[in-house]
Amino acid sequence: MVECEFEADVLTAVLQSRWPERTDGSLRAHAATCPICSDVVAVAGAIHCEAEQTLPAGNIPDAGRVWWVAQMRARREAAKTAGRPITAVQVLAFSAAMGLLGACFGATSEWFQTVVRLAGSIDVHWQTVGLFGGVAALVILIPFALVMAIGRD
Ligand SMILES: [Zn+2]
Repeated sequence: MVECEFEADVLTAVLQSRWPERTDGSLRAHAATCPICSDVVAVAGAIHCEAEQTLPAGNIPDAGRVWWVAQMRARREAAKTAGRPITAVQVLAFSAAMGLLGACFGATSEWFQTVVRLAGSIDVHWQTVGLFGGVAALVILIPFALVMAIGRD
């Protein structure tokens, strides 16, 4: 006999520190009579004990360091929270300014109107295309800029 159907159950119980107190009685009775399972208990139990004993005991940082790290984290998060609304407002203001600038440029620039007039003579509604293009660009760009600004941190 080289395999036992309860081997995995016994191994799991040992590795989860459930052996033998918190293990099913029938499994314990089986392990007492089965050579494979009793070997598993002996070997895995020894390895598991060893692993638990060699856990580093002195890795708890001292209170001063814990306090300092907590302070640094709180400061960083406060700065991040304060910076976020400013960025969003700046992006909104920038988008509005660019939109206004574009509108003024389109209305006042002579060469731009010439180009528009020339384009209009080619029997394509370039003004309409330009208007829709500009509106579409704004509709796409403003949320994108906002997402970039807010999601940057
Ligand atoms: Zn067995």
